[in-house]
This record gives sequence, C-alpha cells and structure tokens, in this order.
Amino acid sequence: MAKSMTLKQFQAKFATDDVCLDHLFKTRYGIVTICPKCGQYDTFHKLAKMPAYTCNCGHHIHPMAGTPFQSTRTPLTTWFQVMYLFTPSRNGVSAKEVQRLTGVTYKTAWRMCNLIRQYMGWVDGDAPVGGSGPEAPIVEADQMFFGGRDKLGHDDKAVVFGAVERQGKAITRVAQSRGTFTASKHVAETIQEGSHVMTDSAKIFRNLPTQGYKHETVNHDAKEYVRGLVHTNSIESFWSHIQRSIKGTHIWVSKKHLQTYLHEFEYRHNLRHQPQSMFDVLMRSFPKA
Ligand SMILES: [Zn+2]
Repeated sequence: MAKSMTLKQFQAKFATDDVCLDHLFKTRYGIVTICPKCGQYDTFHKLAKMPAYTCNCGHHIHPMAGTPFQSTRTPLTTWFQVMYLFTPSRNGVSAKEVQRLTGVTYKTAWRMCNLIRQYMGWVDGDAPVGGSGPEAPIVEADQMFFGGRDKLGHDDKAVVFGAVERQGKAITRVAQSRGTFTASKHVAETIQEGSHVMTDSAKIFRNLPTQGYKHETVNHDAKEYVRGLVHTNSIESFWSHIQRSIKGTHIWVSKKHLQTYLHEFEYRHNLRHQPQSMFDVLMRSFPKA
C-alpha cells in the first residue's frame, strides 16, 4: 500500500496556486480535454489574470466552479493543505490546528473545516448498508449517547443512530428523539430491507423483525456480549473511536454540528482500506458546474 505523504511533502508538491489549479483542472476535466464548444483536442491554456483555462475558440473552464474554493479569498494552496490534513489523520483535525499550521484566522479555519466536513459527507453518500443476498454483509446497529449536560445541568445528550457492516461501510444519523419510532425510521433509511441485523437487546430495536429484517440480539444487561456470530463489537469500536477522537481533537462538538463531524468519520471509515486515495477522491468528486 502506498504511504500517505507528509504535510511537508504535500506542501512541496502543491506549492503554488497555479499548480493547485492545474491539478484541479486535470483531475476534474481529464488530461486531454475536448473542448465542449468547438470539439478540438487539447487546446486549453491557463488565462493570465483569471483562475480559468481557455480554448482557442474562446470557451472558458473554471476549475474551481462548484467547489468550496470558489469565491473565497483563501488561497488554493491553503484549501488543498486543509483538505489534505483531513485525510491521513485518524482522529480528525481541529480548527485550532488548521489555524496554527496554515496561518489563517480561527474563523476562516473553522469555516473551511465545516465546508470540508459537509463535502466529505456528500462524497461519501447516504446509501443504505447491508443487503439480503448470500454475499450480503452482516449489519450491526446501535445507538450512542453523545455529550453530557447543558449549562443548567440538564441532560443534553445527543442521540446518534448508526449501522455498520462487518468489514464494510458505516452510516450514522443524529436522531431527533430516543424512542422506538425514531429508531425504526432510521433503521429503514439506513439499512436495506432483508438485511441480517445484530443489536443489543434495547427495546428500540424490537420492531426489526416486523420491518423485514433478520434480527438477532445479544443481551448486554445479562452480561452477554458475544454468542457465536452474534455481537455488536464492530459498531461499538466505531463509536468508541469517534468518542475518543472528538474528545482528543475537539474536546466538544455542538449538537447542531455533530452530524457533519460524523460524516467526516464515516468518510474515513469507508475509505480506510485505501487511505492514500482519500485526498484524490475528494478532488475528483466535486459536482461539475
Ligand atoms: Zn474550443
């Protein structure tokens, strides 16, 4: 497996805005570009005064169109670095760290991080996990309580629903409430009907058989954690990784933004077997304007 670059190597490779723009252009539009207007091959060249490329016929391509880089005053080199910082780190990146490493203000750093997290979520997609064929992965579903008390000391935990395929993908939802109704709704949205689903014996999952799932449970209350193939170890280690990382990197995350942070963890989890491609996938997935 190719090793990820260090930040220093990355900065040396993407040292100027022109290099970054050129990379973005080639990644998004291909190395041999057929002009969509006149049909000629390989005629595009960089405009001197604009972050755009033009064909001899006068047709322009703006590689930043449709990306979060568009219409920001932050240099493209900085955007690239911050995006890169999000990919090899297992525990995520804080705005403070981005501020320190790139020299942008905290406010700019926070805004960049937020946009990148949202974008990671969009790239990762929201397709339900599992399946019903003989090759379909076993799915583990669970609920996590995140956070603690508000300023008045009231319980202010966020409820997060999640489903993880064994050896496969993860999907999460910040739930609006703790009840069975909400849990059933999130199960239906995130797990394909007919999937083989394992949970603990929490009551919120009691509807799974009637929802069309093959459901098995371990009874954590009775200190039963594994019964043959029946366990929820995968999703529990996914949760504890998120809890540890958020505590270590950000200390605290507001309920309002929790889902975008979860998207970031899903993105890295779902590409964990090819970490060196995490940055490239981000670069090539922008919607074409
Ligand atoms: Zn042309």
